[in-house]
Amino acid sequence: MKILVTGGSGYIGSHTCLELLKMNYEVAVIDNLSNSKKTSLKRVEKITKNKIDFFKVDLLDLKKLNHVFDKFTPDAVIHFAGKKAVGESVIKPIEYYKNNLGGTINLIEVMKNHNIKKLIFSSSCTVYGLPNKVPIKEDFPVSAVNPYGRTKLFIEFLLQDVSQSDPNWNIIVLRYFNPVGADQSGIIGEDPNGIPNNLFPYITQVAVGKLPILSIYGNDYPTPDGTCIRDYIHVSDLAFGHVKAIDKLRKSSGTNTYNLGTGKGYSVLEVLSTFEKVTGKNIPHRFVKRREGDVSASYSDTTKARRELGWKANKNLEDMCKDAWHFQSLNPRGYN
Ligand code: NAD
Ligand code: UDP
Repeated sequence: MKILVTGGSGYIGSHTCLELLKMNYEVAVIDNLSNSKKTSLKRVEKITKNKIDFFKVDLLDLKKLNHVFDKFTPDAVIHFAGKKAVGESVIKPIEYYKNNLGGTINLIEVMKNHNIKKLIFSSSCTVYGLPNKVPIKEDFPVSAVNPYGRTKLFIEFLLQDVSQSDPNWNIIVLRYFNPVGADQSGIIGEDPNGIPNNLFPYITQVAVGKLPILSIYGNDYPTPDGTCIRDYIHVSDLAFGHVKAIDKLRKSSGTNTYNLGTGKGYSVLEVLSTFEKVTGKNIPHRFVKRREGDVSASYSDTTKARRELGWKANKNLEDMCKDAWHFQSLNPRGYN
Protein backbone atom coordinates (compact mmCIF):
# COMPACT_ATOMS: atom_id res chain seq x y z
CA MET A 1 0.00 0.00 0.00
CA LYS A 2 1.26 3.49 -0.90
CA ILE A 3 1.00 6.24 1.67
CA LEU A 4 1.59 9.94 1.02
CA VAL A 5 2.61 11.84 4.15
CA THR A 6 2.25 15.64 4.16
CA GLY A 7 4.55 17.36 6.64
CA GLY A 8 6.46 14.07 6.80
CA SER A 9 9.88 15.53 7.61
CA GLY A 10 8.51 17.17 10.78
CA TYR A 11 8.62 15.77 14.30
CA ILE A 12 5.59 13.44 14.30
CA GLY A 13 5.71 12.89 10.53
CA SER A 14 9.28 11.53 10.54
CA HIS A 15 8.49 9.11 13.39
CA THR A 16 5.36 7.99 11.52
CA CYS A 17 7.35 7.44 8.29
CA LEU A 18 9.67 5.23 10.33
CA GLU A 19 6.78 3.09 11.63
CA LEU A 20 5.23 2.90 8.13
CA LEU A 21 8.50 1.73 6.55
CA LYS A 22 8.94 -0.85 9.32
CA MET A 23 5.53 -2.22 8.27
CA ASN A 24 6.65 -2.30 4.60
CA TYR A 25 4.42 0.52 3.34
CA GLU A 26 5.66 2.48 0.35
CA VAL A 27 6.07 6.06 1.56
CA ALA A 28 6.29 9.46 -0.12
CA VAL A 29 6.57 12.79 1.70
CA ILE A 30 5.48 16.29 0.73
CA ASP A 31 7.00 19.05 2.85
CA ASN A 32 7.97 22.67 2.22
CA LEU A 33 10.66 22.38 4.96
CA SER A 34 9.33 25.55 6.62
CA ASN A 35 9.70 23.90 10.04
CA SER A 36 11.89 20.86 9.45
CA LYS A 37 14.98 19.56 7.73
CA LYS A 38 15.32 16.81 5.15
CA THR A 39 17.97 15.25 7.41
CA SER A 40 15.18 13.69 9.51
CA LEU A 41 14.07 11.59 6.53
CA LYS A 42 17.62 10.73 5.51
CA ARG A 43 18.02 9.34 9.02
CA VAL A 44 14.74 7.40 8.78
CA GLU A 45 16.06 5.88 5.55
CA LYS A 46 19.29 5.00 7.35
CA ILE A 47 17.47 3.28 10.23
CA THR A 48 15.13 1.28 7.99
CA LYS A 49 17.39 0.84 4.92
CA ASN A 50 14.32 1.80 2.87
CA LYS A 51 13.70 4.73 0.54
CA ILE A 52 11.26 7.59 0.90
CA ASP A 53 10.15 9.59 -2.16
CA PHE A 54 10.57 13.22 -1.12
CA PHE A 55 8.83 16.18 -2.78
CA LYS A 56 9.76 19.65 -1.59
CA VAL A 57 6.35 21.12 -2.29
CA ASP A 58 4.14 23.66 -0.53
CA LEU A 59 0.53 22.54 -0.18
CA LEU A 60 -0.48 26.03 -1.25
CA ASP A 61 1.05 25.34 -4.69
CA LEU A 62 -1.86 23.57 -6.35
CA LYS A 63 -0.04 22.87 -9.61
CA LYS A 64 2.95 21.15 -7.97
CA LEU A 65 0.65 19.28 -5.61
CA ASN A 66 -1.20 17.88 -8.63
CA HIS A 67 2.09 16.72 -10.14
CA VAL A 68 2.97 14.83 -6.96
CA PHE A 69 -0.32 12.93 -7.13
CA ASP A 70 0.21 12.22 -10.84
CA LYS A 71 3.61 10.72 -10.04
CA PHE A 72 2.99 8.85 -6.78
CA THR A 73 -0.78 7.96 -6.79
CA PRO A 74 -1.13 7.01 -3.10
CA ASP A 75 -3.81 4.73 -1.69
CA ALA A 76 -4.14 6.97 1.39
CA VAL A 77 -2.84 10.27 2.73
CA ILE A 78 -1.70 11.18 6.24
CA HIS A 79 -1.93 14.94 6.63
CA PHE A 80 0.49 16.42 9.19
CA ALA A 81 1.51 19.59 7.31
CA GLY A 82 0.57 22.73 9.17
CA LYS A 83 1.83 25.49 11.37
CA LYS A 84 1.54 24.65 15.06
CA ALA A 85 2.81 27.44 17.32
CA VAL A 86 -0.06 28.79 19.42
CA GLY A 87 1.66 32.11 20.31
CA GLU A 88 2.66 32.79 16.71
CA SER A 89 -0.91 32.06 15.56
CA VAL A 90 -2.18 34.87 17.80
CA ILE A 91 0.26 37.33 16.17
CA LYS A 92 -0.11 36.03 12.59
CA PRO A 93 -3.66 34.62 12.34
CA ILE A 94 -3.96 35.10 8.56
CA GLU A 95 -0.79 33.07 7.95
CA TYR A 96 -2.25 30.28 10.05
CA TYR A 97 -5.64 30.28 8.33
CA LYS A 98 -4.03 30.51 4.90
CA ASN A 99 -1.49 27.75 5.51
CA ASN A 100 -3.53 25.29 7.56
CA LEU A 101 -6.96 25.75 5.98
CA GLY A 102 -5.74 26.69 2.48
CA GLY A 103 -3.29 23.77 2.43
CA THR A 104 -5.98 21.31 3.51
CA ILE A 105 -8.50 22.61 0.95
CA ASN A 106 -5.93 22.19 -1.84
CA LEU A 107 -5.09 18.70 -0.61
CA ILE A 108 -8.76 17.63 -0.56
CA GLU A 109 -9.32 19.06 -4.02
CA VAL A 110 -6.34 17.24 -5.52
CA MET A 111 -7.23 14.00 -3.72
CA LYS A 112 -10.79 14.23 -5.08
CA ASN A 113 -9.55 14.85 -8.63
CA HIS A 114 -7.37 11.75 -8.38
CA ASN A 115 -10.18 9.73 -6.80
CA ILE A 116 -8.15 9.12 -3.62
CA LYS A 117 -10.53 9.37 -0.70
CA LYS A 118 -8.74 7.89 2.31
CA LEU A 119 -7.34 10.49 4.69
CA ILE A 120 -5.93 10.66 8.22
CA PHE A 121 -5.80 14.14 9.73
CA SER A 122 -3.67 15.40 12.66
CA SER A 123 -5.95 17.24 15.02
CA SER A 124 -5.26 18.15 18.61
CA CYS A 125 -6.74 18.03 22.10
CA THR A 126 -6.76 21.82 21.80
CA VAL A 127 -10.19 21.41 20.12
CA TYR A 128 -11.63 20.58 23.56
CA GLY A 129 -10.99 24.21 24.59
CA LEU A 130 -11.39 24.52 28.35
CA PRO A 131 -12.84 21.09 29.22
CA ASN A 132 -15.32 20.90 32.11
CA LYS A 133 -14.01 17.57 33.30
CA VAL A 134 -11.36 14.92 32.72
CA PRO A 135 -10.73 12.36 31.28
CA ILE A 136 -11.77 13.85 27.96
CA LYS A 137 -13.94 11.78 25.62
CA GLU A 138 -14.30 12.32 21.88
CA ASP A 139 -17.93 13.43 22.24
CA PHE A 140 -17.12 16.29 24.64
CA PRO A 141 -18.04 19.76 23.34
CA VAL A 142 -15.45 21.37 21.08
CA SER A 143 -14.29 24.98 21.04
CA ALA A 144 -11.04 26.83 20.46
CA VAL A 145 -9.22 29.47 22.44
CA ASN A 146 -6.66 30.65 19.84
CA PRO A 147 -6.28 30.88 16.03
CA TYR A 148 -4.19 27.66 15.83
CA GLY A 149 -6.94 25.75 17.65
CA ARG A 150 -9.57 27.31 15.40
CA THR A 151 -7.73 26.11 12.27
CA LYS A 152 -7.85 22.55 13.67
CA LEU A 153 -11.53 22.90 14.52
CA PHE A 154 -12.48 24.41 11.14
CA ILE A 155 -10.59 21.64 9.34
CA GLU A 156 -12.47 19.04 11.38
CA PHE A 157 -15.78 20.65 10.32
CA LEU A 158 -14.59 20.89 6.72
CA LEU A 159 -13.71 17.18 6.69
CA GLN A 160 -17.11 16.25 8.12
CA ASP A 161 -18.79 18.23 5.33
CA VAL A 162 -16.60 16.57 2.70
CA SER A 163 -17.42 13.07 3.91
CA GLN A 164 -21.13 13.94 4.09
CA SER A 165 -21.06 15.20 0.50
CA ASP A 166 -19.68 11.90 -0.83
CA PRO A 167 -19.94 8.54 0.98
CA ASN A 168 -16.76 7.30 -0.73
CA TRP A 169 -14.64 9.51 1.50
CA ASN A 170 -13.15 7.70 4.43
CA ILE A 171 -11.56 10.03 6.97
CA ILE A 172 -9.97 9.50 10.39
CA VAL A 173 -9.36 12.47 12.65
CA LEU A 174 -6.74 11.84 15.35
CA ARG A 175 -6.72 14.23 18.29
CA TYR A 176 -3.24 14.09 19.80
CA PHE A 177 -2.62 14.90 23.44
CA ASN A 178 1.02 15.90 24.23
CA PRO A 179 3.49 14.09 21.93
CA VAL A 180 7.00 13.94 23.44
CA GLY A 181 10.20 11.89 23.34
CA ALA A 182 12.03 10.39 20.40
CA ASP A 183 12.65 7.12 18.63
CA GLN A 184 14.64 4.89 20.99
CA SER A 185 17.58 4.83 18.54
CA GLY A 186 18.25 8.50 19.42
CA ILE A 187 18.75 9.08 15.68
CA ILE A 188 15.56 11.06 15.09
CA GLY A 189 13.73 13.29 17.54
CA GLU A 190 12.27 16.74 18.17
CA ASP A 191 14.28 19.68 16.87
CA PRO A 192 12.21 22.85 17.25
CA ASN A 193 13.29 26.13 15.65
CA GLY A 194 14.49 28.78 18.12
CA ILE A 195 13.60 28.69 21.80
CA PRO A 196 11.14 25.84 22.45
CA ASN A 197 7.59 26.65 23.54
CA ASN A 198 6.90 23.15 24.80
CA LEU A 199 7.92 21.64 28.10
CA PHE A 200 9.93 18.60 26.95
CA PRO A 201 12.29 20.24 24.45
CA TYR A 202 12.75 23.08 26.94
CA ILE A 203 13.82 20.66 29.67
CA THR A 204 16.19 18.73 27.37
CA GLN A 205 17.79 21.98 26.19
CA VAL A 206 18.35 23.05 29.80
CA ALA A 207 19.81 19.60 30.50
CA VAL A 208 22.23 19.87 27.57
CA GLY A 209 23.29 23.38 28.65
CA LYS A 210 21.71 25.28 25.73
CA LEU A 211 19.28 27.12 28.02
CA PRO A 212 20.04 28.20 31.60
CA ILE A 213 16.82 27.57 33.51
CA LEU A 214 13.29 26.22 33.09
CA SER A 215 10.43 28.60 33.93
CA ILE A 216 7.41 26.74 35.25
CA TYR A 217 4.24 28.60 34.35
CA GLY A 218 2.24 28.75 37.57
CA ASN A 219 2.17 26.75 40.82
CA ASP A 220 -1.26 27.88 41.97
CA TYR A 221 -3.47 25.65 39.81
CA PRO A 222 -6.12 23.48 41.49
CA THR A 223 -3.96 20.33 41.13
CA PRO A 224 -2.21 18.33 43.89
CA ASP A 225 1.14 20.16 43.48
CA GLY A 226 -0.21 23.37 41.92
CA THR A 227 1.32 22.79 38.45
CA CYS A 228 -0.64 21.89 35.31
CA ILE A 229 -1.45 18.29 34.40
CA ARG A 230 -1.08 16.93 30.85
CA ASP A 231 -1.35 13.60 29.04
CA TYR A 232 2.16 13.12 27.61
CA ILE A 233 2.39 10.43 24.94
CA HIS A 234 5.57 8.91 23.51
CA VAL A 235 5.90 9.96 19.85
CA SER A 236 6.62 6.36 18.77
CA ASP A 237 3.34 5.17 20.33
CA LEU A 238 1.60 8.07 18.61
CA ALA A 239 3.25 7.20 15.28
CA PHE A 240 2.11 3.60 15.61
CA GLY A 241 -1.44 4.90 16.16
CA HIS A 242 -1.31 6.04 12.52
CA VAL A 243 -0.44 2.54 11.35
CA LYS A 244 -3.50 1.25 13.22
CA ALA A 245 -5.59 4.07 11.74
CA ILE A 246 -4.58 2.97 8.22
CA ASP A 247 -5.78 -0.56 9.03
CA LYS A 248 -9.06 0.98 10.16
CA LEU A 249 -9.36 3.10 6.98
CA ARG A 250 -9.58 -0.09 4.93
CA LYS A 251 -12.83 -1.09 6.67
CA SER A 252 -14.52 2.10 7.92
CA SER A 253 -16.52 4.85 6.25
CA GLY A 254 -17.45 8.48 6.88
CA THR A 255 -15.46 10.49 9.43
CA ASN A 256 -14.27 8.83 12.65
CA THR A 257 -12.49 10.68 15.44
CA TYR A 258 -10.11 9.26 18.06
CA ASN A 259 -8.12 10.58 21.00
CA LEU A 260 -4.49 9.47 20.99
CA GLY A 261 -3.13 9.79 24.51
CA THR A 262 -2.15 7.51 27.37
CA GLY A 263 -5.13 8.32 29.56
CA LYS A 264 -2.77 9.32 32.40
CA GLY A 265 -2.02 12.86 33.52
CA TYR A 266 1.27 14.11 34.99
CA SER A 267 2.05 17.51 36.48
CA VAL A 268 4.96 19.67 35.35
CA LEU A 269 6.76 18.88 38.63
CA GLU A 270 6.22 15.13 38.16
CA VAL A 271 7.70 15.36 34.66
CA LEU A 272 10.65 17.30 35.99
CA SER A 273 11.42 14.89 38.82
CA THR A 274 11.05 11.84 36.52
CA PHE A 275 13.41 13.44 34.00
CA GLU A 276 15.96 14.18 36.73
CA LYS A 277 15.66 10.64 38.10
CA VAL A 278 16.11 8.78 34.78
CA THR A 279 18.83 11.04 33.35
CA GLY A 280 20.72 11.96 36.52
CA LYS A 281 20.67 15.58 35.32
CA ASN A 282 19.75 18.46 37.58
CA ILE A 283 17.32 20.90 35.95
CA PRO A 284 17.46 24.41 37.44
CA HIS A 285 13.93 25.84 37.54
CA ARG A 286 11.86 28.68 38.92
CA PHE A 287 8.16 29.40 39.17
CA VAL A 288 6.77 32.27 37.11
CA LYS A 289 3.23 33.48 36.51
CA ARG A 290 0.68 31.38 34.64
CA ARG A 291 0.87 31.25 30.83
CA GLU A 292 -2.26 32.65 29.24
CA GLY A 293 -4.61 30.03 27.81
CA ASP A 294 -3.25 27.05 29.81
CA VAL A 295 -5.88 24.71 31.23
CA SER A 296 -5.16 23.24 34.66
CA ALA A 297 -5.68 19.59 33.70
CA SER A 298 -6.08 17.78 30.40
CA TYR A 299 -5.93 14.03 29.82
CA SER A 300 -7.69 11.64 27.53
CA ASP A 301 -10.18 8.84 27.76
CA THR A 302 -8.63 6.32 25.35
CA THR A 303 -11.43 3.74 25.36
CA LYS A 304 -12.57 4.47 21.80
CA ALA A 305 -9.10 4.12 20.23
CA ARG A 306 -8.51 0.92 22.17
CA ARG A 307 -11.86 -0.55 21.14
CA GLU A 308 -12.04 0.56 17.49
CA LEU A 309 -8.39 0.89 16.42
CA GLY A 310 -7.00 -1.87 18.65
CA TRP A 311 -4.35 0.64 19.76
CA LYS A 312 -3.00 1.74 23.11
CA ALA A 313 0.12 3.52 24.23
CA ASN A 314 2.76 1.20 25.71
CA LYS A 315 5.55 3.54 26.80
CA ASN A 316 5.55 5.31 30.15
CA LEU A 317 6.81 8.68 31.36
CA GLU A 318 10.26 7.25 32.16
CA ASP A 319 10.60 6.01 28.55
CA MET A 320 9.55 9.44 27.28
CA CYS A 321 12.16 11.22 29.42
CA LYS A 322 14.90 8.69 28.65
CA ASP A 323 14.34 8.80 24.88
CA ALA A 324 13.95 12.59 24.71
CA TRP A 325 17.28 12.93 26.51
CA HIS A 326 18.94 10.22 24.41
CA PHE A 327 18.19 12.20 21.21
CA GLN A 328 19.17 15.55 22.73
CA SER A 329 22.43 14.25 24.20
CA LEU A 330 23.44 12.54 20.92
CA ASN A 331 22.34 15.64 18.95
CA PRO A 332 23.08 18.67 21.17
CA ARG A 333 22.44 20.99 18.20
CA GLY A 334 19.45 19.03 16.86
CA TYR A 335 19.76 18.12 13.17
CA ASN A 336 22.37 20.83 12.52
P1 NAD B 1 6.23 19.95 12.69
O1 NAD B 1 6.24 21.43 12.51
O2 NAD B 1 7.45 19.28 13.16
O3 NAD B 1 5.76 19.26 11.32
C1 NAD B 1 4.88 19.89 10.41
C2 NAD B 1 5.53 19.85 9.04
O4 NAD B 1 4.68 20.47 8.08
C3 NAD B 1 6.87 20.60 8.99
O5 NAD B 1 7.86 19.73 8.48
C4 NAD B 1 6.61 21.77 8.04
O6 NAD B 1 7.76 22.10 7.30
C5 NAD B 1 5.47 21.22 7.19
N1 NAD B 1 4.58 22.23 6.58
C6 NAD B 1 3.94 23.25 7.19
N2 NAD B 1 3.19 23.92 6.30
C7 NAD B 1 3.35 23.32 5.11
C8 NAD B 1 2.84 23.56 3.80
N3 NAD B 1 2.03 24.58 3.54
N4 NAD B 1 3.22 22.75 2.80
C9 NAD B 1 4.07 21.70 3.03
N5 NAD B 1 4.60 21.43 4.24
C10 NAD B 1 4.23 22.23 5.27
O7 NAD B 1 5.00 19.60 13.65
P2 NAD B 1 4.61 18.25 14.37
O8 NAD B 1 4.81 18.44 15.83
O9 NAD B 1 5.22 17.11 13.68
O10 NAD B 1 3.05 18.25 14.12
C11 NAD B 1 2.45 17.58 13.02
C12 NAD B 1 0.95 17.87 13.02
O11 NAD B 1 0.39 17.44 14.26
C13 NAD B 1 0.60 19.34 12.89
O12 NAD B 1 -0.54 19.46 12.07
C14 NAD B 1 0.29 19.75 14.30
O13 NAD B 1 -0.62 20.83 14.34
C15 NAD B 1 -0.34 18.49 14.86
N6 NAD B 1 -0.22 18.39 16.32
C16 NAD B 1 1.01 18.49 16.90
C17 NAD B 1 1.12 18.43 18.29
C18 NAD B 1 2.47 18.58 18.97
O14 NAD B 1 2.49 18.86 20.17
N7 NAD B 1 3.59 18.39 18.30
C19 NAD B 1 -0.03 18.25 19.09
C20 NAD B 1 -1.27 18.13 18.45
C21 NAD B 1 -1.35 18.20 17.06
N1 UDP C 1 5.32 24.57 30.60
C1 UDP C 1 6.15 25.20 31.51
N2 UDP C 1 7.29 25.77 31.05
C2 UDP C 1 7.66 25.76 29.74
C3 UDP C 1 6.82 25.10 28.82
C4 UDP C 1 5.64 24.52 29.29
O1 UDP C 1 5.86 25.25 32.70
O2 UDP C 1 8.71 26.31 29.39
C5 UDP C 1 4.09 23.92 31.08
C6 UDP C 1 2.81 24.50 30.46
O3 UDP C 1 2.33 25.56 31.25
C7 UDP C 1 1.89 23.29 30.49
C8 UDP C 1 2.81 22.09 30.35
O4 UDP C 1 4.12 22.56 30.69
O5 UDP C 1 1.28 23.20 31.76
C9 UDP C 1 2.83 21.54 28.93
O6 UDP C 1 3.06 22.61 28.03
P1 UDP C 1 3.34 22.38 26.50
O7 UDP C 1 3.55 23.74 25.87
O8 UDP C 1 4.42 21.37 26.34
O9 UDP C 1 2.02 21.71 25.96
P2 UDP C 1 0.49 22.25 25.89
O10 UDP C 1 -0.28 21.32 26.73
O11 UDP C 1 0.45 23.65 26.37
O12 UDP C 1 0.16 22.14 24.45
